[in-house]
Amino acid sequence: MAKVVIVGAGFAGHYAALVLQDAIKGKGNHEITVISRVPKFTYIPSLVWVGVGQMRAEETQFDLKPVYDKVGINYIHGTVTEVHPDPEDQYVVVNLPNGQTQEVKYDYIIIATGPYLNFAAVEGLGPENGYTQSICTPPHATEAASKYLELVNRLQKGERAKIIIGTGHGLATCQGAAFEYICNIHNDLVDRGLRDRVELMWLSNEPALGDFGIDGLETKYKGKIFTSEDMARYVFEQYGIKWEIRSHVRKVEEGKVYTVNLDGEEKEFEFDFAMLIPPFKAQPIKWIDKDGNDITDKMCNPAGFVKVDANYGKPYDE
Ligand SMILES: Cc1cc2nc3c(=O)[nH]c(=O)nc-3n(C[C@H](O)[C@H](O)[C@H](O)COP(=O)(O)OP(=O)(O)OC[C@H]3O[C@@H](n4cnc5c(N)ncnc54)[C@H](O)[C@@H]3O)c2cc1C
Repeated sequence: MAKVVIVGAGFAGHYAALVLQDAIKGKGNHEITVISRVPKFTYIPSLVWVGVGQMRAEETQFDLKPVYDKVGINYIHGTVTEVHPDPEDQYVVVNLPNGQTQEVKYDYIIIATGPYLNFAAVEGLGPENGYTQSICTPPHATEAASKYLELVNRLQKGERAKIIIGTGHGLATCQGAAFEYICNIHNDLVDRGLRDRVELMWLSNEPALGDFGIDGLETKYKGKIFTSEDMARYVFEQYGIKWEIRSHVRKVEEGKVYTVNLDGEEKEFEFDFAMLIPPFKAQPIKWIDKDGNDITDKMCNPAGFVKVDANYGKPYDE
């Protein structure tokens, strides 16, 4: 019998649990345990709608436990703080919501904890200790919607405003989500008859428009090849969205973002509402050896992400 522990229940962890459970069905008495800090699955791509108030966060979520109960997967609601990977005694330490800790043994472990949103990398970035919004989590997207709708209220009274959407650091990724969000903001303002009162700007670290952090995309349409650069340029020109790319955000103050671009030019942009995706690092989990030494530096890269071997990233069919 093998015990498999899966840490995290986002797309990666939840999908891994279901696929693995299906694969081992009827093949021995194996045990899968999912440990997740949040008791719900969130369909994160829909947060681009939550952030403009067109969906409620709850509509993007479902409870994990009933799903796992149905298919025979154990579920623990808690936060993994330590992994002890010594082959003779492998276990994780979990902080439970009631303040107690629990040790869970494993033979195999999948770390699927997603990114830690590193707002602290830039002074003034983020909704908690800064001046910008985020749509990366359900609470953040809900707060972004509330701030956006406050601004809509002011626009309806005749004010004008500047909105900046994009990335909040030279190393931030997930530009696609920000691109969808700026399009949603544009369309929402059009529907409300308020678009002409807003200067809308795309601010990003992409080396070229439409790069989306993945070196761009190509698609074939009626025998012609279109690039994501063509698409983004077309959308921004049609929507009247200005853009400033190749830019790192150095600092944010109330209503002002300070950038430096790849040519070394420093610039400042004013805003009434800004949603900037933060850079990511790994969730803070410690790796401890059998003698109690912290071996996190050995197991993880400098950003804290677990090092993987060449078997990572198999072709889809495998
Ligand atoms: C607004 C938005 C829109 C997006 N749209 C798209 C899209 O259209 N297409 C696309 O391919 N990608 C999209 N993405 C990216 C995509 O959502 C992520 O790549 C994906 O969610 C990553 O999944 P994950 O399971 O690795 O991590 P996550 O979704 O972050 O899940 C990690 C889980 O682990 C839990 N966890 C973290 N630490 C611990 C711990 N120590 N102990 C226990 N549990 C822990 C977290 O609470 C979370 O539930 C979008 C992202 C955003 C923000």
